[in-house]
Amino acid sequence: MEKEVTLNPFKIAQEQIEKVGEILNLPKDIVEVLKWPKRVVQVAIPVKMDDGSVKTFLGWRSQHNDALGPAKGGIRFHPETTMDEVIALSIWMTLKCGVVGIPYGGGKGGVRCNPKEMSQGEIERLSRGYIDGIWQVIGPEKDIPAPDVYTNPQIMAWMMDEYSKIRGFNAFGVITGKPILLGGSEGRNMATAMGTLYTIREGAKAIGLSLKGATVSIQGYGNAGYFAAKLLHDDGAKIIAVSDSKGAIYTEEGLDPDKVLEHKNKTGSVVGYPGTKEIGSRDVLTIPCDILVPAALENQITTENVNEVKAKIIAEAANGPTTPEADEVIAKKGILMLPDILANAGGVTVSYFEWVQNNYGYYWSEEEVLQRLERIMVNAFKSVYEMHKEKKIDMRTSAGAVSIKRVVDAMKLRGWI
Ligand code: NAD
Repeated sequence: MEKEVTLNPFKIAQEQIEKVGEILNLPKDIVEVLKWPKRVVQVAIPVKMDDGSVKTFLGWRSQHNDALGPAKGGIRFHPETTMDEVIALSIWMTLKCGVVGIPYGGGKGGVRCNPKEMSQGEIERLSRGYIDGIWQVIGPEKDIPAPDVYTNPQIMAWMMDEYSKIRGFNAFGVITGKPILLGGSEGRNMATAMGTLYTIREGAKAIGLSLKGATVSIQGYGNAGYFAAKLLHDDGAKIIAVSDSKGAIYTEEGLDPDKVLEHKNKTGSVVGYPGTKEIGSRDVLTIPCDILVPAALENQITTENVNEVKAKIIAEAANGPTTPEADEVIAKKGILMLPDILANAGGVTVSYFEWVQNNYGYYWSEEEVLQRLERIMVNAFKSVYEMHKEKKIDMRTSAGAVSIKRVVDAMKLRGWI
């Protein structure tokens, strides 16, 4: 089988837009509008390092489309981030917000740096410097960032504080993923996995699979992976395999997710958890199971292993775990794919709730947050599944089409096109 060519993510995103444009019969000139970000800002951020030197970091903020509302999307701190990656991620945020029908467009930010090699003081100065560079283009009514790879609630708190100082008032609603004490939302830590669970429940119903006793394999045991394991286990499913960056474990008996987490916290890995067999890291993807949850990295299900995937449902808690070529094979095999822009949209949905609560200055209980999340995720699944059946298209294209249709309708109503 052909080996995948590693493509520029921006090009991949543009091709996905073109594919959806064909399904929706959109005129070429309108597809062209959607293929480009509305605005990209590049900043050079000088940071005083602890050793007295000054280092310059490059950063970007991309706003792809804001027809449905302010741009929304995380900020990543990563040594390999590029402007094209940030633009692609902002396009996918437009799709993600559109598919769940929250009033946001797509945005994304990135700073090329290695936070693992920086002190807390250096990270704080970099975070504040980034906001000093982009504050004119963000704001609660314009563009609302959030955490992403290697950024966290503390970094969001510094960024919110810097923006507030510049504006001269407390602007909690400028950023989400903040600590609870500074306007963060209850339920945010489990939101992504909760959204994944709600879509799995609907998907399982659609294909006649009972979650009671269903076998589950999960790649990654961080925020998305651990909570997915815990919530599926609470629903009666049997977690037979999990992995992290150090390796993977398997047991026919089923795992207790909290005990596995305790073991991981103590030893640094899920590997070695008593009563389990160590399996190859990538075997979690191909082991016989009913539900497969990739919750780690991109490009994990590829042409090299897709033929070995035996799950009935794949729920992409991770972003981009399946390559476009492997995706076609999955659709042909009749596996129900719950694509990332649907299955992990619980995170951005609760970020939206955080912003709503900040704007009101009135805060909800975890129960209220999760009830509202469930309503949104169930409706999103229904729209995507109906279009998938009606137009006989794969679930990822269907999710993109549901979303792009909303964005295009909004642009028409606003008179942009
Ligand atoms: P995390 O850092 O909390 O956890 C990542 C996990 O992946 C860790 O357990 C790590 O050990 C594991 N991992 C790393 N390399 C691996 C490998 N080669 N094989 C197996 N496991 C490996 O990150 P997270 O927040 O859980 O994010 C995971 C994925 O979910 C990412 O793709 C992220 O973009 C996506 N996502 C997360 C959220 C969220 O709210 N956390 C929202 C949307 C999407």
